[in-house]
Amino acid sequence: MPSLTDSVRYLKGVGEKRAKLYQKLGVDTIYSLLHFFPRTYLDYSDAKMIEDCALGEFCCVKATVFKKQGEQYIRKGLSIFKVFVTDGTTDMLITIYNSKYLFDKLQVGQTYCFYGKLQGNLLRREMNTPSFINLQTDCPVKAIYHLTDGLSNNLISLNVSKALELWGDRLDDVLSPDIKQTEQLCHIRYAFENIHFPKDMQALEVAKKRLIFEELFSLQLGLLLLKKKNRKSTGVTIQNTALDEFLKQLPFILTDAQLCAIKDGLQDFTKQVPMNRLLQGDVGSGKTVVACALAYCMANNHYQTAIMAPTEILAVQHYHTFCKILEPMGIQCALLTGSMTAKQKNIMKQKIAQGEYQIVIGTHALIQDSVTFFCLGLVITDEQHRFGVNQRAKLAQKGTNPHKLVMSATPIPRTLAFIIYGDLDVSIIDQPPKGRLPIKTYLITGSKRLRAYHFIKEHIQKGFQAYIVCPLIDEQDQKQQAHSVYQYAKTLENTELKDVRVGILHGKMKPTEKEEVMLQFQNQQLDLLISTTVIEVGVDVPNAVLMMIENAELFGLSQLHQLRGRVGRGTVQSHCILVSDHKAEQTIERLKIMTQSSDGFYISEQDLKHRGPGDFFGERQHGLPDLKIANMVDDMQILLRTQQLAKEILQRDADLSLPEHQGLKQLTQQLFQQMSADN
Ligand code: ADP
Ligand code: MG
Repeated sequence: MPSLTDSVRYLKGVGEKRAKLYQKLGVDTIYSLLHFFPRTYLDYSDAKMIEDCALGEFCCVKATVFKKQGEQYIRKGLSIFKVFVTDGTTDMLITIYNSKYLFDKLQVGQTYCFYGKLQGNLLRREMNTPSFINLQTDCPVKAIYHLTDGLSNNLISLNVSKALELWGDRLDDVLSPDIKQTEQLCHIRYAFENIHFPKDMQALEVAKKRLIFEELFSLQLGLLLLKKKNRKSTGVTIQNTALDEFLKQLPFILTDAQLCAIKDGLQDFTKQVPMNRLLQGDVGSGKTVVACALAYCMANNHYQTAIMAPTEILAVQHYHTFCKILEPMGIQCALLTGSMTAKQKNIMKQKIAQGEYQIVIGTHALIQDSVTFFCLGLVITDEQHRFGVNQRAKLAQKGTNPHKLVMSATPIPRTLAFIIYGDLDVSIIDQPPKGRLPIKTYLITGSKRLRAYHFIKEHIQKGFQAYIVCPLIDEQDQKQQAHSVYQYAKTLENTELKDVRVGILHGKMKPTEKEEVMLQFQNQQLDLLISTTVIEVGVDVPNAVLMMIENAELFGLSQLHQLRGRVGRGTVQSHCILVSDHKAEQTIERLKIMTQSSDGFYISEQDLKHRGPGDFFGERQHGLPDLKIANMVDDMQILLRTQQLAKEILQRDADLSLPEHQGLKQLTQQLFQQMSADN
């Protein structure tokens, strides 16, 4: 008998060819086949009348067989069977390809529920090889799997049932009887049987709950173990945390929230374990100056600070900000970016290694092996969601357990924050600097575009600047119907914006070109910047008070909020115009949220509701394991509960070494396997 960790090909009815197909679905072992959870379920008890179903849609209908027509041989390898059914009002032709077995199962006079795509025309309804059940004898809930060519739903069901038959009794139950009892969770066997072959909807819920719990439980255990592992003691313990001179140097008074965040950091500096802190604050909330204060403190204590920004534009901007504040106090700042010549970089690197610079600001260029520090005390990553866990770690490895601060302007829903940042402490800046007016936001359709141009023109005539954001760069990448920056700039030549000074900015430009444009915009040599989302992060031009975003429907709310944050940075009323011709009610409703709120945290919660957590996690950048069954939004209650339980367990058994925790430990390791492979 094959073991759980053997390839599915050894399972009776699979074989080599199908095993290859299974690979496409991410299934390799028998174990992973059992964990290949259905995509959704078909509730046959929810059948409709044929005439109520739309042509071309998948639907479930209840009908009785009244005639069968034997095998018709079409050509080699293709024969068809015809079955005629009726629901009393409408008839339907069912065609079955190549399966005498299914054909024989359908008997004249019996009533079945059929699920499939309704085809044909108004006069004749058809379904091709639908899945079906006999309502008298079969269970009314059917699992629907992700499919690939060559693996049908029925076949997968069959294979899974074989695996269950062999292994059902032998599955390890990693949850102790205690936990199962207090949390009211079913046995593992029951869970697997009913997740694949639910007895009814209720049994399915019970099974789901158990498997979700198990998955989130191991996720939480893994995160907590990770957090512990990362907390080695630091060589950087600071005595002098005085800031008076720094505060005097600032052109403004810090908000209470900013002061709190700085205090959090300074306190961490005095401890034996390195700071590992997330600074979260809406765009424009003033995170940079917090970073600057902490870097100042490090410099005062003869430690270097490295600051990594995701784009060159941002790095340069930070460089200027830091220089302006710190250089008058005799603190030297360096800039290191990819667009510098090799020679420039080498000179810079040498000086950094010798400790001539106390502050080093740069892009990814900072994590190159050739960059070494004299005495690195603090590592700051700005807009951290743009970096992977590994990139951050790499920078920190350049010191001996330096303190770490990551800054994020993407307000993560609080509920998600502790998962994504499971191993971080969090400071939040939840108030904007004094005197900021909330940005006024409007949602318009393309028919009002000319009026918007007029509005922009008026502002430009008063000496202000504006952004127009388009999703695409040029027509060539126009896979979807959406505006592109180049096309847009051309179109403007026929409008009243034709004589304003227009700049173009997008991600395919060379860093030096981008910088040039951004500088011109900053220096008010340009009135209007037509751009893709490259301006998304951090760029600070207080004189820009208008932003128009084309094809707003293509962006997530959090992203729109980020973009919008480019304006509203001065003391003048700013405006944001979202343009969308999208008709779908859902889209409009989603976009309307932008016009109603300027609270980044609220908006991110809404985004989470509408688009799921994918946007927050980014393309697996987070380095967290993929969840197979649990869902961060729907299963929040279980998530919170498992976090608490995980803490309790680790208090008793810090590294899961007790015999009764071996199953859990293994599961946790499995879940995090991918992750440790990445690191
Ligand atoms: P973000 O949090 O988005 O990184 P920044 O740090 O870029 O925001 O700050 C946005 C702008 O607000 C900058 O021009 C900065 O100089 C200014 N600023 C920051 N803190 C204050 C404050 N306490 N009072 C007035 N202006 C401030
Ligand atoms: Mg910033």
